[in-house]
Amino acid sequence: MNIPPAASAAGASGCDVLVIGGGPAGATAAALLAGRDYRVTLLEKAHHPRFHIGESLLPANLPLLEKLGVADAVKAIGIEKWGAEFVSPWHDHKQSFEFSEAMDKSMPMAYQVRRAEFDEILIRNASRKNARVVEGCQVRDVNFLPGNAGALAQALHDDGRIETVHARFVLDASGRDTFLGNRFKAKQRNRKHNSTAIYAHFSGAERNPGKAAGNITIFWFEHGWFWFIPLAGGATSVGAVTWPYYLKTRNKKSLDQFFLETIALCAPLSERMLHAQPISPVEVTGNYSYVCDRTHGSNYLLLGDAYTFIDPVFSSGVMLAMHSAFVGADTVDTCLRHPQRAAAALKKFDRTMRLGPKAFSWFIYRVTNPTLRDMFMEPLNIFRVKEAVLSVLAGDVFGRTPIHGPLLLFKGLYYAASLLNFRRTLKAWRTRKRNIRGVDEIGAAMN
Ligand SMILES: Cc1cc2nc3c(=O)[nH]c(=O)nc-3n(C[C@H](O)[C@H](O)[C@H](O)COP(=O)(O)OP(=O)(O)OC[C@H]3O[C@@H](n4cnc5c(N)ncnc54)[C@H](O)[C@@H]3O)c2cc1C
Repeated sequence: MNIPPAASAAGASGCDVLVIGGGPAGATAAALLAGRDYRVTLLEKAHHPRFHIGESLLPANLPLLEKLGVADAVKAIGIEKWGAEFVSPWHDHKQSFEFSEAMDKSMPMAYQVRRAEFDEILIRNASRKNARVVEGCQVRDVNFLPGNAGALAQALHDDGRIETVHARFVLDASGRDTFLGNRFKAKQRNRKHNSTAIYAHFSGAERNPGKAAGNITIFWFEHGWFWFIPLAGGATSVGAVTWPYYLKTRNKKSLDQFFLETIALCAPLSERMLHAQPISPVEVTGNYSYVCDRTHGSNYLLLGDAYTFIDPVFSSGVMLAMHSAFVGADTVDTCLRHPQRAAAALKKFDRTMRLGPKAFSWFIYRVTNPTLRDMFMEPLNIFRVKEAVLSVLAGDVFGRTPIHGPLLLFKGLYYAASLLNFRRTLKAWRTRKRNIRGVDEIGAAMN
């Protein structure tokens, strides 16, 4: 349906802050700003509860959930995740880590959650805090008005009604839809990384015993790696993250058949899936590493995946999205209440938005590299390097934990080991360079 261009604010509903999208970033920002008495309108195109991939949270999520007042509600739907297990076909043992071994011992655990339930808790919390939450309403157009007079947005309700909203400030939390990133042609493919994912939920997959039952397992295999995320009620989320070329090998096979054949390529995972049955449709997500060339404008911010997403391997997406909402809410507050301090607040927001993805990206870009794999499978804790790496894996990248020195040392050790294995390093570098080409570049058909 075509929407006529907005002519004026006359007839528009008014608010201080318009939030586009009600995932973790949007719902968190809406709750925080409504809690500070701003008039907030959140428009969400779907209806909660709705499926979303991304079920594994990090310990650094928990303080954010506490501050939002939803920690107990999340505890009730999640299962406890105390650590992670790595399984490699190139090593003869498994390697487990517990978050309690990280530098800050106060964040020993996180949760695995069904996102349909988790995201619904967050969006209902925004309503409770008096944000106006409208579901089944897709933002179609936003025009920023001259003279810093805010923005006029047009949205289409499921029943065909068109709503115009006049807002002083806009938060784009539209996730991978990257609403403003697309509108400003600001979205770029990440040249340093590229992967695709195939995933589904299963019943009957075998869990680790005892306290480790809720831990995430990462299984490397020749085309990438798998996640194995236990969920409450016995289901397990299993996904393969592969180089884009691998999808090309699907040809005309059904997604179900292709996914089961992919699982069969990883013997230790297949063993845990011996009695497993799929209980959801198999889904695929391609070419998903991107970044926008900006984090904000004078009266808008890009939050969470609306700014960037790199890779799910360290389960950082939800934490980064919620953290961006906390910093974003402070930024909006300063811009609206103290406009003379807006420039400094926006600069600080920009720094924080870039810091999180940067902290994870060094590891993400190397996670399929044999040297880093060796260092994960045979961890050393000289000068607390293992504790510092675990702090990153726990999401403790924004606080005061002194991770930077040990992390520098860890990276130095990585480069030294790479030089010592120069041939292997060169081969891995060439393979990765070839593998990060996009599906479009290698002419693969995704359907
Ligand atoms: C394969 C894969 C696996 C992942 N695994 C994990 C994991 O284990 N742990 C983890 O933390 N992260 C994971 N992630 C990342 C995680 O899913 C995201 O980082 C997270 O959901 C980002 O939250 P968000 O609020 O920014 O966006 P989203 O959660 O995507 O929410 C955006 C919302 O905006 C709505 N919307 C979009 N456009 C409009 C519009 N025009 N108008 C109105 N509404 C709109 C959408 O319907 C959606 O509800 C994974 C990602 C992928 C691709």
